[in-house]
Amino acid sequence: MKLLPIPSRSARRYLARPALTAPNGLRPLRADLDGARIEHFPFRAADGTRLGLARVAPHGDDTRPAVLLLHGHTASAEMFTLPETRNLAAALLDAGYEPWLLDWRGSCRLPYNERGPRYSYDDVSLYDIPEAVAQVRGRIGGRPLFAVAHCIGAMTLSMSMAAGLVTGLAGVVAQGVFLTPKLYGRARLPMHLGTELLRGRMSHQVVDFKRAGLFSKQSLLFALAARGADCPDPTCQILHNSAWGTGASLFVHDNLHPDTHDRLAQLFGPAPFFTVPHLRQNELAHAVTRWNHGDRRYAALPENALDHADRIDCPVLLLSGSQNKLWADSNKVCHEVLTSRHPQLDVRYTEIPGYGHVDPFIGRGAALDVFGHITDFLDTHR
Ligand SMILES: [Zn+2]
Repeated sequence: MKLLPIPSRSARRYLARPALTAPNGLRPLRADLDGARIEHFPFRAADGTRLGLARVAPHGDDTRPAVLLLHGHTASAEMFTLPETRNLAAALLDAGYEPWLLDWRGSCRLPYNERGPRYSYDDVSLYDIPEAVAQVRGRIGGRPLFAVAHCIGAMTLSMSMAAGLVTGLAGVVAQGVFLTPKLYGRARLPMHLGTELLRGRMSHQVVDFKRAGLFSKQSLLFALAARGADCPDPTCQILHNSAWGTGASLFVHDNLHPDTHDRLAQLFGPAPFFTVPHLRQNELAHAVTRWNHGDRRYAALPENALDHADRIDCPVLLLSGSQNKLWADSNKVCHEVLTSRHPQLDVRYTEIPGYGHVDPFIGRGAALDVFGHITDFLDTHR
């Protein structure tokens, strides 16, 4: 595995800069990309939803393979461009790739988790990802296109691929979960019962304690998350000690850079409760399933993506932190299921020792411990 260097420059210098401008309606992006230009190509999905798409443009080089980066739910493209650490977009640039950043409708840089039409993960699989792939291909021509996806970004991509809506990728890296979602044990009961109790009372849960108010419905989960927490930061508590009240944990605390820790409320937005029933259905099936039934718009999606895994037509690298306390060993299970049911598929599984759920991308040591696995995989298949 190649080791990627960590820049010696002070990250705080970059955080002090104003965030990069972005098209109307999309929150500005904070990024350190070694001076590379960011070109924005926002588009409207076929159902009218406005989404963000950006190309990190290497200077004067239009020949590189492209890599579409898909964030997790309530995070955003910014999880791949952190100025305070060696980020994945910069590492891909240095390794000879052209990163593309999608903000799908679950991004905290967009408003839909708090307001606007409610959506399900079917919409992401049916509209956001296939249309983003088409947008990128419209600009890169016949160059190879990879996808690197995290959490719900990977789960929804698996449905797009099983539906035959995304084909011909050069390779896929899926982090945390892919076709076989299986929650961490401690999170199962709160996910299945607790969130259902709250769903009728609240539309979403904020993670920024300053937005919750001391005596509000929003403060309930903060109070629960504070129990037994080692860290005094309420936003950290609700993500690290509770994962929005589910009892899961999003990261290994010591793996975060102090600046990342102190701006978690910028990196993770409110979590909507309206997507939980679909998540629960997937978890009970231990498979990615279609949520919308009897609506012909979603007829292109199979009832169960795992049953159509034979439509996956590219190599897949399944990644997971050894201490993933959200999706546990889902990707290890996925590897076992795919290699036994579809031995023709090129599927590999790599476990990252000492990492949790999202720190394989936002951790201060991710460039050394994780990104080399990704670039090695891309190099093999470019
Ligand atoms: Zn903390």
